[in-house]
Amino acid sequence: MDMLIGGKHISSDDVEDVINPYNGEVIDTIPIAHRQTAELAIVEANNAKKELCEMSAFKISNKLFNVVDKLKEKRDEFAKSLTLEVGKPINESLVEVDRSIETLKLAAEEAKRIYGESVPLDAGLNGKGFFAFTQRLPLGVVAAITPFNYPLNLTIHKIAPAIACKNTTIIKPPTEAPLTVMKFAELLNEEFPDGVVNTVTGYGSEVGDYLVTSPDVDKISFTGSVTTGLMISQKAGMKKVTLELGGNDPMIVLNDADIDKAVKGVINGAFLNAGQVCMGVKRIIIEDSIACEFCEKLVSETEKLIMGNPLDSKTTLGTLISKKAAIQVEEVVNNAVSMGANVLTGGTRDGSFYEATVIDNVTPDMDLVLNETFGPVAPIIRVKNLDEAIEVANDTDYGLQAGVFTRDYVSAMRCVNEIEAGTVFVNKQSTFRTDNMPFGGFKNSGIGKEGIKYAVEEMTKIKLIGLNLR
Ligand code: NAD
Repeated sequence: MDMLIGGKHISSDDVEDVINPYNGEVIDTIPIAHRQTAELAIVEANNAKKELCEMSAFKISNKLFNVVDKLKEKRDEFAKSLTLEVGKPINESLVEVDRSIETLKLAAEEAKRIYGESVPLDAGLNGKGFFAFTQRLPLGVVAAITPFNYPLNLTIHKIAPAIACKNTTIIKPPTEAPLTVMKFAELLNEEFPDGVVNTVTGYGSEVGDYLVTSPDVDKISFTGSVTTGLMISQKAGMKKVTLELGGNDPMIVLNDADIDKAVKGVINGAFLNAGQVCMGVKRIIIEDSIACEFCEKLVSETEKLIMGNPLDSKTTLGTLISKKAAIQVEEVVNNAVSMGANVLTGGTRDGSFYEATVIDNVTPDMDLVLNETFGPVAPIIRVKNLDEAIEVANDTDYGLQAGVFTRDYVSAMRCVNEIEAGTVFVNKQSTFRTDNMPFGGFKNSGIGKEGIKYAVEEMTKIKLIGLNLR
């Protein structure tokens, strides 16, 4: 599939196969763009700024709503496309498309709510006699660099608010799963002037890096790993950057918790998208006194998951993005076992599949929980009490989201106040997001927030206008 730049389809002499991780078949190829192509996209995006800025908020909103309708019509086609390139079960892909539709709708609504405010300059020394107000203005060109795990919705979380507040855009989709995003860019391009939406495919280290360092790109909105995010923040120079990075989210289960509810939280939180979720449950921190009962129930529910062809609607556990990714998970689990952890169920790899795995007696010094493990693994860390639970929860460089299960409001409030994370849920696992909520982590999990209204704030600049009336 070709790139879309300035409304034209652009190919390249170099191409890369997009592989279905389930059966290894080539789905399509994408062009490997080089620096000149990224440069062309930047020129086209800059050229399109004026026409987009002259468009009324009313018109932009309506056009975004038109794209909502188009995506609704293509719901099944887009879901299938996601499943083929990511390997996630078709039912999960349908949810991603449904959420994408909601995210787009939120942006279409937000396009009509880009407000400034009046500012009482007379509250400051010598400010008497002014009438002052602010305007929120577009930054110019927003480059969206996105990961493989939720390629469609995460791209829309950047592109839709960017356009809602009149920025033109360049999308650098993930190399492993670029196709659904590229199809979506075509839908947007049918509605908006050429150059408002551009796609550049290729390697992050080349085209991604060029977008990041170019002075003609005004903002980088990045979702991906901490390693890449850190590199971007060091290279971006004088441009705004939003970084939505990895997570190592804790789920604290206290001895008064509703155990069945917590078990359900792990099934949804640790195994969704084969555990390849930034806000996935990555560490279950549980009070010792209930750990055995919890593990028994968790194993029983985990063994009900059905691993198989992701296109089959009965499948609840698909593949990882590649065999290489599955091998990494295998290694890290084996390493934990060699250090004393025990696998209660799962623990076996088959090609790019990795079984849903529950592993007990994990300690905080094991790689499995020190770093972000991107696979279907539920590591159990047993603790003595709430104090130790909070200490273990915070003993990480990450701080995306967290969940605590307890019926006691004092314990809940201690977790809420003391856990260092962008979101803390009580009686809900970290793996939960509505597309309007402020989403973004503390510590190495990132900088800035998404969630349409919050993304708009990060994609606009504020100008103050002061009228001296004296
Ligand atoms: P990644 O960092 O490897 O790649 C993300 C994107 O960055 C890809 O498009 C890639 O091509 C590009 N890239 C790579 N090197 C680059 C460079 N030098 N300059 C510019 N761009 C470059 O991440 P991934 O493996 O695709 O995704 C998994 C990671 O994403 C996990 O850590 C996960 O937690 C994180 N993630 C975070 C969120 C969030 O909202 N916080 C959501 C989903 C995924």
